[in-house]
Amino acid sequence: HAPIHVIGGGLAGSEAAWQIAESGIPVILHEMRGVRGTDAHKTDGLAELVCSNSFRSDDATSNAVGVLHAEMRLAGSLIMSCADKNQVPAGGALAVDRDGFSDAVTASIDSHPLITVVREEVSGLPPKEWDLAIIATGPLTAPSLASAIQAETGADALAFFDAIAPIIHTESIDMDICWFQSRYDKVGPGGTGKDYINCPMDEAQYNAFVDALIAGDKTGFKEWEGTPYFDGCLPIEVMAERGRETLRHGPMKPMGLTNAHNPTVKAYAVVQLRQDNALGTLYNMVGFQTKLKYGAQAEVIRMIPGLEKAEFARLGGLHRNTYIHSPVLLDTSLTLKSRPGLRFAGQITGCEGYVESASIGLLAGRFAAAERKGQPLPLPPETTAFGSLLNHITGGHIVSDDEPGKRSFQPMNINFGLFPLLEPGAIVKPEGIKRFRGKDKTVMKKQLVAARALEDCAAWLKAHS
Ligand code: FAD
Repeated sequence: HAPIHVIGGGLAGSEAAWQIAESGIPVILHEMRGVRGTDAHKTDGLAELVCSNSFRSDDATSNAVGVLHAEMRLAGSLIMSCADKNQVPAGGALAVDRDGFSDAVTASIDSHPLITVVREEVSGLPPKEWDLAIIATGPLTAPSLASAIQAETGADALAFFDAIAPIIHTESIDMDICWFQSRYDKVGPGGTGKDYINCPMDEAQYNAFVDALIAGDKTGFKEWEGTPYFDGCLPIEVMAERGRETLRHGPMKPMGLTNAHNPTVKAYAVVQLRQDNALGTLYNMVGFQTKLKYGAQAEVIRMIPGLEKAEFARLGGLHRNTYIHSPVLLDTSLTLKSRPGLRFAGQITGCEGYVESASIGLLAGRFAAAERKGQPLPLPPETTAFGSLLNHITGGHIVSDDEPGKRSFQPMNINFGLFPLLEPGAIVKPEGIKRFRGKDKTVMKKQLVAARALEDCAAWLKAHS
């Protein structure tokens, strides 16, 4: 077989290279560190962890990232085996000795007979002779390659910062206070005129909220990140600081909305949430990107009527992060639609985190190897963590109703909100238990979704390995 080229030897690229080589196909892995550094990496080691040394929860029975760990182990992940061998005590989390971990990945890759590591910067799209290639250059992709990607995909399709608004589990929103309605009942393509969840505020609530935003603890930008306050992605607290009325005339404007629970009283301000995934299990807060620290953020958002008990699938943020508009650009096997044979993997596809990036590397590697062998690989079932995350990246997004053509796509960690719902009636009170509360049901739901994922993943791997 001719080799497959992988660009970037981070979490995703190292895993992709390993999966390809383990399937018997040669790999050339191009990593620029050693020749050129990034603003966050400190070493030349492969799969360097740039910040925390944690892979988060290792609980595969009721935690979504724990399920992803387990699926990766089932699939022979290099990243997981090196993490397991370099574990440090961290309660229920999987944390690693970062140098030991990176050294182990580097040694495994360097000594694999089918992998050649080339220390060089790839400064443009892969040449046509590299008929199968994977770009896994991460959130800090070198500028010349980023420009080449932008030239291929269009300026709007590559982001250099993520301006992330909080995403909330729909079932934690109080619909006795909130209501469904699109502004001016506008019906867009495929919409119903009821595409947003609206949270009403009176004047006193609005003023208290603005005060809390201004007082809340914020995180700063790293020096190299710059201050990316441009094209309508101002953090809400910065808007609040600019004037008491700014939010009420911006993302919190109440116009064109009538409170279904109280139609005669006009809301002073309204917070809108837009459906975030096709399943409808997640909603994002429209225009609510923020640099508030996580603790302060959750507290301030829970001041909003109807969101008092909000559970967050992810909190908001604003970071330096290069990523492409995958739901439009990539097919379901992570191939760039405009360049057959060229795949993307890792954080640049719009997933978030070490484990997620590595898992998308794992899938991209398997898809590429299968293509080289002429035996296309069926997608992992949507019920698996692999499938749910892949679906988040390549497909499961809705077109918003009153902004045709705009899609909500924000980088995201794996979470249970991305998994399909259980069959109705799946959650039943276990025999012999007296009280079966909401909290117990949530735990059981997570356990059932986790067990279903692992069973379906094992079956998929058995059928297609
Ligand atoms: P990376 O691991 O960054 O790997 C990309 C590789 O591509 C790098 O080795 C880079 O040198 C190389 N490269 C780039 N351009 C080129 C080129 N043109 N030619 C050749 N090689 C190239 N995630 C967490 O889970 N926890 C955290 O605490 C965390 N903290 C973070 C802090 C910062 C400052 C940043 C930027 C990100 C952080 N992340 C964190 C996200 C983290 O980067 C990703 O989760 C993960 O490293 C992404 O994996 P990746 O393989 O996609 O990219």
